Amino acid sequence: MTGHELVARVRDARERSDAIILRVCGACENKCCQQMTMMGTQDLRRLIREMQLDEQFERRVREGLFEVAERLDTDLRVLAEVTELLAVSSGSSRPGELADLQRSVGEWADFVRWLRSDFPITQQEMRRLVMFSAVRSNALNALSRFPGGLGALVNLSGNKASFQFRGRRIAPPPCLFFLDDSGCICDQAKPAKCANFFCAGVPNLLEDLRKSLGFDDFVLANMTPVGIDRILRMIELERDLGPQYIEPKIVLGASEEMIDLIARRMGHSGEMVRLKRIERPGLRSAAEVEGELKTIPPGTGLIEVFPAIDGNTLYELALALDRIRLRDEHPSYVLTATHLLTTPAAHPLWDDRMMAQPLGVLDLLVIEE
Ligand code: SF4
Ligand code: SF4
Repeated sequence: MTGHELVARVRDARERSDAIILRVCGACENKCCQQMTMMGTQDLRRLIREMQLDEQFERRVREGLFEVAERLDTDLRVLAEVTELLAVSSGSSRPGELADLQRSVGEWADFVRWLRSDFPITQQEMRRLVMFSAVRSNALNALSRFPGGLGALVNLSGNKASFQFRGRRIAPPPCLFFLDDSGCICDQAKPAKCANFFCAGVPNLLEDLRKSLGFDDFVLANMTPVGIDRILRMIELERDLGPQYIEPKIVLGASEEMIDLIARRMGHSGEMVRLKRIERPGLRSAAEVEGELKTIPPGTGLIEVFPAIDGNTLYELALALDRIRLRDEHPSYVLTATHLLTTPAAHPLWDDRMMAQPLGVLDLLVIEE
């Protein structure tokens, strides 16, 4: 399968997968998106890359964060109100605790101001998104040192702010990137844990995907149709942003001409490019692939060209690339194949009751012309 047929099949698999996610996520008892953010530094780099790559996406993220700022501002007002009440009632009896609380309120206000600003899309600026959970938790800790402080916060919250008790503690807030009306702001740049369907819920998302899609369509549902221009810009941008932004890529449906363009773009960015043609692909184990990618010297890019590849080989490769990602390594590696073959038998790890699948966060791209 290649060309239009491949892209149409990918689109169909993605639509079916999205419908399952919409039906199952949130019907479980866990509701991941309602429980704090899971974005780490590595995830943030993907978000930065996507925002820099795509103006429309950047605008959507900024608009989404603007709405988040409204939500956090409502919480902040309640927190500031409780802080003022405590300042009056405690007089000068707890100056240290009060100063800590006021400092936390100030940090929270700073963050809301920043969210509403036209901040530059850089790691240094945007790491504030990852740090906010610490700001929130510091504020609640500071407040908990005052007897009745958390109770007052929940009472004053009413229906407008988000503070509620879960047991004797304040319940975790929704993920910073979640909007009630439209869901995840990060979309294609979701953190790895979300993109890889980490799921321990009942009903279980992975079980439903497995039952409804089957192996080949699950692999296809994790691919993104993109034009060759976007792939070339991605390659260039990653190298401009720095080596820690480089992500290995799997590109299906690439013609010889496109492979040449990819190699040139890597070369333009200062890499020595090695093109390796694999005429008779056999299934390589994840360990073998990891070993091979480890030997790519710094400053060198490796492009492996397969005439065709099947879902099983892709899945095994994804396991290797996912482990490489977990070690925060960034080999300059592109695998291209013109055709996708039907998989004779699903990968064994697909059949296991895995809690996560490794495909979601990788750059699995299929070229649409
Ligand atoms: S990923 Fe799983 S646990 Fe999380 S909301 Fe979806 S079904 Fe629930
Ligand atoms: S990043 Fe997106 S998908 Fe992940 S928990 Fe937050 S809102 Fe949900």
